[in-house]
Parts: sequence; structure tokens; C-alpha cells
Amino acid sequence: MSFTYRTRHLVPEGAYQVLARAQEMEAAGREIVHLEIGQPDYDTYENIKDAGMRAIANGQTRYTPPAGMKRLREAIALQAGRQRGLEFDSRQVVVGPGAKPNLFFPTLALVEPGDEVIYPNPGFPTYEAMIRLAGGKPVPVPLREQSHFSFDLEVFHELVSDRTRLVILNSPSNPTGGVIPLADLEEIAQAAQEYGFWVMSDEIYSRLVYDGLNVPTIAALPGMMERTVIVDGFSKTYSMTGWRLGYGIMPQELAQVVELLLTHSVGSTAHFTQLAGVEALEGPQDQVARVVEEYQRRRDVLVEGLNAIQGIVCQRPQGAFYVFPNIRTFGLSSSAMADLLLDKAGVAVLPGSSFGEYGDGYLRLTYSNSIVNLQKAVQQIREALSQIS
Ligand code: PMP
Repeated sequence: MSFTYRTRHLVPEGAYQVLARAQEMEAAGREIVHLEIGQPDYDTYENIKDAGMRAIANGQTRYTPPAGMKRLREAIALQAGRQRGLEFDSRQVVVGPGAKPNLFFPTLALVEPGDEVIYPNPGFPTYEAMIRLAGGKPVPVPLREQSHFSFDLEVFHELVSDRTRLVILNSPSNPTGGVIPLADLEEIAQAAQEYGFWVMSDEIYSRLVYDGLNVPTIAALPGMMERTVIVDGFSKTYSMTGWRLGYGIMPQELAQVVELLLTHSVGSTAHFTQLAGVEALEGPQDQVARVVEEYQRRRDVLVEGLNAIQGIVCQRPQGAFYVFPNIRTFGLSSSAMADLLLDKAGVAVLPGSSFGEYGDGYLRLTYSNSIVNLQKAVQQIREALSQIS
């Protein structure tokens, strides 16, 4: 069978491939510690589940306006604005089924065939897929391990030009957990003014940050909100990955185009899911705070455990729920190392290379798992590696 050029470049997300292999091993009786899938291990909070169930019981199960219910858009504008020290109009907010549509549709609206799009490598695999689907030219920029896995700004300055239409940022980052420092955002914002490109700032992990940090956003820098799309959502903050609820905040004119794209593709986001989202934003936030504290404890256990293993160098990232240890000293590719850890240590992790070529030499481990399991994983990794070094 033959399919279009548009879809030929698409590949599955690495996490699902590793999960499938790990599950095969489990079916054959092996015990596996799962550190590969990037979603919270917590259940959606009770008040949010109740709001969703109440909405279904009340028959709130119909179409809504394509860009989302007014009530939810207003609640998002308020909360997202407060978090960032900015003021948003609810008409700038576009709700979608997950954050992904608000990555994808603004890209379709902004990028003409042949336009260059700069994006982080290693980075979330959807970026490259959506750039190519839009007909754009992907221009990956490597990240600097020693500098919070922020862009290598020297390379960024070499690659940015009048051909650059869009720059994608992700802070805190998947897969590295790194938070881009304000000084770097200022440098990128200056280039945006000079070359006139748009910025897509994927801030889906912006509430999962540690050490009391407040994540800076490029949107807050002078003149930037008119050329920035902020992407955020409910999946990570409120453990709602399967509800499918996210949003973008962007200039109103762009929001109207994205609304049209939603109209003709997904139609609208589930009515009851949006009402659960209103409860998530307006209900108590102490559960989020407790979970963030727990993630921080887990991060510390994992970072310290990995750094105690000879040959592994692991930074202490300030956000998301990933660590991205450097395993170059072992002389194996990251996919060979991930295979080895699955087979010999019974620990499922992702090769850094599944996030792009510059991710080779690293692994991604998710700490959305219990401290007991993290300790077990570290112990088993140490034993497996001591046999090869
Ligand atoms: N951006 C990043 C960086 C992510 O890691 C994810 C989820 N893995 C998403 C966007 C997508 O979020 P959602 O499930 O809400 O579509």
C-alpha cells in the first residue's frame, strides 16, 4: 500500500515501543520496574473526578463551542495569567483535547511549506512530526547539559535567520527536566524581535517545578506576547492524561484560525471533561502542592542513586518528572544501553536518542513511580552495570 508524502515521516513514540517490550517480558513472568512512560502515577483527584461524573449525570454531554466553553476559557485566562504575572483575555485561550492540538494547529496556521522551524533536540518527538506535517523544515538545536539543558545558544545564533518562522521552546523540558534560565529567554526574545519569528512555548510542566522555583516564560518579556503561543494543560498538573484537556494562549487573531482548525477536525473537546477542568482550576490546589513535594523527594532519590553508580553523570533537573543521565563512559549507544537495562536489570527506560540524535549518550528515566521502586531500579541498574564495566 502506498500513502502520502505527508505521513511517510511519521514514527511511533519510543515510550510505547519500550512499554510493549516490557509488557511482553512481564507476560513471560519477568518483574519490570517501569520508568519509561511520561505520565503521573497518581489518579485524577477526587473532586475533579466527581465534577466530571456529575456533568455526565446532568447530561452535559453535548458539543460545546470549538474553542471551548466560555466559563473554562475565563478560568484558564485567570489562572494562567496569575501564574505568569500576565493578563490574558479569555478570547486568547483555545481549549483542545489535550495540549497536543494546540501544538499542532498553531503550527499549521503559522508555518508555510519551506519555512524553517527551530526546536530542541533532544526534545518531545511531536515537535518534529508537526513541523514536517506542516511542510516546514525542521532545524534542530542541541541542548547544553551543563546549562540546564537549555539551547546551545551559539548554535542557535548560527541557525536563526530570516527564514526562521517559528522557534519551539519547552521549559521544563521533556526529556531532560531542564528549566530554561531567564537570561537565555532574553537572548531568544531579542532574536525574535530582530528576525520576526514566532515562539511556541510548551509549558505543560510549568507547575511541576522544584526547589521553590518559578519558571520564567518568554511570553512575559517585552513585546513577546504578540508573537508567542503558550501551550499548557491539565494532563500533568492534575494527573488527567486520559481526560484529554489542554489549551493554548495566543494573540486573538491566531486563536480564531486555530478555532477554525478545531471546528473542522475534532469539533470540540468533551463537554464533561471541560467541566472537570473548571473544577481542577477553581477547586483546592493543595493536592498539587503535595504531589509536587513528593516528586521533588523522588527526584532527589533517583539523582543521588544514579550519581552513586560509577560511570553515570546525572544533573539535578528543576522540573517535570524526568532525569536525563549521561551514560557516555560506557561506550554503548543509548538504545543498546536501554535494551541492556531492560534485559539485565529489569528496568524499562528510554534511550535519549528516541528524542533526537543529540540525545544519544543519555537515557530518560521517569520518576512518576514510588520511592521504593526507584530505589529498586537504582540497585538493579548498579548490579547490571557492574557486570559490564
Ligand atoms: N508537551 C510535552 C513536552 C509533553 O511531554 C506532553 C505529554 N507527554 C505533551 C506536550 C502533550 O500533552 P497532552 O497529553 O495534554 O496532549
